[in-house]
Amino acid sequence: MVRRLNAPYFGKRYIGSSETKILHDMDQESAKCRIDSIARKDIQMFEWLSIPVEMGYKACQYCMADFRRERIPK
Ligand SMILES: [Zn+2]
Repeated sequence: MVRRLNAPYFGKRYIGSSETKILHDMDQESAKCRIDSIARKDIQMFEWLSIPVEMGYKACQYCMADFRRERIPK
């Protein structure tokens, strides 16, 4: 899928749900990610990985499968 340019996504690369604390990579999005099921009030967008990592987000098993937490660049 491609990045969504409209609100509340604004073309940023990473989308997280503040409810599940799961982070998705919009450039690798899978249908299993079910991005559209994330409640709008829970959506948090990030351009860089360092911030969600500090907030305790975990990588999605579908779109960030080869992305282990310890490999996320700070
Ligand atoms: Zn995902």
